[in-house]
This record gives sequence, structure tokens and C-alpha cells, in this order.
Amino acid sequence: MDKIEIVQGDITRMEVDAIVNAAKNSLLGGGGVDGAIHRAAGPELLRECRLLGGCDTGQAKITGGYNLAASHVIHTVGPIWSGGSNREDELLASCYRSSLSLALKHELRTIAFPAISCGVYRFPARRAAGIALSEIQTFLRNYHGIDKVYCVCFDEAMADIYRSWLVEE
Ligand code: ADP
Repeated sequence: MDKIEIVQGDITRMEVDAIVNAAKNSLLGGGGVDGAIHRAAGPELLRECRLLGGCDTGQAKITGGYNLAASHVIHTVGPIWSGGSNREDELLASCYRSSLSLALKHELRTIAFPAISCGVYRFPARRAAGIALSEIQTFLRNYHGIDKVYCVCFDEAMADIYRSWLVEE
């Protein structure tokens, strides 16, 4: 599906309507992609996040993008992998759906996702990439208004994992 593109790089550099942040429940910043987004956006982002009252796992909230090229940041909280029988798959799928629904509601047409939960939260990469792509594809089939979704992989190994799913279809 040509509305989905897999790219390797730094999500903070993406020139899109919204980048998605793999945030913590507090929404008050952290390491990994969350830290990189806050550093690139500047302190105003944290100020706005403080007003949001946190976010439940699997849900999403939206802020401005401040110093980022992206005009908005959609913050979603992925599940911490703990073996697979604690609704991890369902919660990860919900992150993608909630983020895309929020983008649609705000009329944002181009969105970039990182590999949510695949860092410190230790979700198995291949399994997470399959969930990500299938949720994005289903959403784009069911709703119109989003032109492009980028899956931004920090390294080439992760990009290959994503690409292997697209090849299989
Ligand atoms: P989580 O806590 O949800 O696991 P992490 O930030 O630890 O979130 O990792 C999620 C994914 O984001 C990992 O695959 C990691 O390599 C990737 N990542 C880290 N920094 C960036 C960045 N600047 N741009 C894109 N992806 C990134």
C-alpha cells in the first residue's frame, strides 16, 4: 500500500503534520525517542504535556510541535512487554489506532510513527512491526483523510523487519 512508507532515520527530523511519540504514562518525558523529541521540540513541549494529566497505556494525546518541523506531536503510551499474556498485543494495536484517530480528528494528513514499545519496553520487534503495519493498513482502508504514514525505524535492522512484513503480503 503506497500510503505507507518505511524509512530509516531520526523521527524528530520528519516534515509531517504529526510525529508520534512513544511516551510514558506521565507524559513528562523519558529516554529513547521520547527524550529525543523533547530535546528537539524544546521546553515548551514539556510545559504543554504537564497540563495533560498523563495518558493511559494504549491511548493517545496531542500537543503542538514547537521547534520541530512537525506541527503536532501525538503522544501514545505503549505496553511494557512482560511475556505476551498481559494484553500487550491488544494495547500496542490500540496505540496505533488511537494515534491515527486523533490525527484524523485534527485533520492531520501526514504522520510518522516510531517503533512503539520496541526499545526500553522490550516488545519483540518482529511481532510489534506486524501489529503496527496491520493496524495502519486496516485504519487506512476504513477511513479516508490520511495521505501518508511513515514508519520511521531508527536503524536499518528494524527497517528490514518492517520491510519483510510488507513483502510477505
Ligand atoms: P519504548 O519505551 O516505547 O520502548 P523507546 O524510545 O525506548 O520506546 O524505543 C522505541 C523505538 O524508537 C526503538 O526502536 C528505538 O530504537 C527507536 N528510537 C529511538 N530514538 C529514535 C529517534 N530519534 N527516531 C526514531 N526512532 C527512535
